[in-house]
Amino acid sequence: MLPKKSIDKIVESTSDHSVDGLFFSKKILAWYRSQERPLPWRVLWAKHRDPWHIWVSEIMLQQTLIKSVIPVYERFLTQFPSWAALAQAPQEDVRLAVRGLGYYRRFDLLHKACRQLHFENKTLPTSHEAWLEMPGIGPYTAAAIASITLNLPHGVVDGNVERVFCRLLDIRTEPNLPALKKQFKKEMDDICHMGSPGDVNQAVMELGQTICTPSNPLCEKCPLQQICCAYSASSQALAPAAKTKQAPIDVKLRLEIIHADNRAELYLRPDDATFLKGTWGFPTYRLHGTSWRSDGKSTHGPSPANRKSIGSIKHSITKHRITADVLVSAARKSSKASPIRQMAFKDVEKNLVSNLDRKAWNLFLKANQSKN
Ligand code: SF4
Repeated sequence: MLPKKSIDKIVESTSDHSVDGLFFSKKILAWYRSQERPLPWRVLWAKHRDPWHIWVSEIMLQQTLIKSVIPVYERFLTQFPSWAALAQAPQEDVRLAVRGLGYYRRFDLLHKACRQLHFENKTLPTSHEAWLEMPGIGPYTAAAIASITLNLPHGVVDGNVERVFCRLLDIRTEPNLPALKKQFKKEMDDICHMGSPGDVNQAVMELGQTICTPSNPLCEKCPLQQICCAYSASSQALAPAAKTKQAPIDVKLRLEIIHADNRAELYLRPDDATFLKGTWGFPTYRLHGTSWRSDGKSTHGPSPANRKSIGSIKHSITKHRITADVLVSAARKSSKASPIRQMAFKDVEKNLVSNLDRKAWNLFLKANQSKN
């Protein structure tokens, strides 16, 4: 990484430059309208003009790839066709409907926002500021929803937008420096003011996802080639510089699958659990120094000793890199506190919200199969 002084210098010098907004707007909109992918939320918006379809998509797309979102999005909207329907659903149904997507707090907040609207007899926000006041909506999501559904000129800046602008201006520092973010936000706001803000935002992101990709950008197909400084300087591989990655935090867990007579037990993780609070899954223990303790207040009885291990799984949750031993044991009679559900093996998978539990369950099924 460059020393801070050099970075400040580069950022300072780039703030004198800006892209040719008019050219940008004209070219990118023409490109987008001929190339736009028919993603489900775009198709639904074009047909119904219902902000609910965009709101759900923007929440699901946070930190999540489009290809992972699509099947869940379709299933979710079948189950909850309106925000009023979501407001009236129990939290558990909401969690199950988004199983596997991760970052479940965002869906708790979506649920909370819908409940606020429904039970306080409110209507959907009609301004950028009002969207910003909704639970779970930050500046990026508010700008995306307001630009697409209300045609308001608020630009979005995500990793794709940062990369495109760094290349247009041949900026060779990390792309997410606060001063650059501020500059790119202003550029995007200005371009959005020239018209069709929803399409402009989606177009720049689409360009970053499909043409101006992190490696080997397809410059020959790019509508902005004429104004791209990195293209002129052949410096696409240098602009922007790679982001400094945060070192992952290694965590050791144990998941215990308690079963008997082709039935297994699921526990509701407590609210003070470090991982996956409020989800149904397998009793989870975390290694603290040399002792294993329940993750969250003790809910599953004694920490397992002398249980049989059937192997280990790996999983990441935000910055945590988890290695979890999967233990099996016979159903216990007494378990403290936490709600428990016993269910037939065939029903377990569809009641698991997290991929961590699902990986443990698949390992268990494999081990069971090879035993039989
Ligand atoms: S010309 Fe190439 S580097 Fe420049 S914006 Fe287009 S795809 Fe990105």
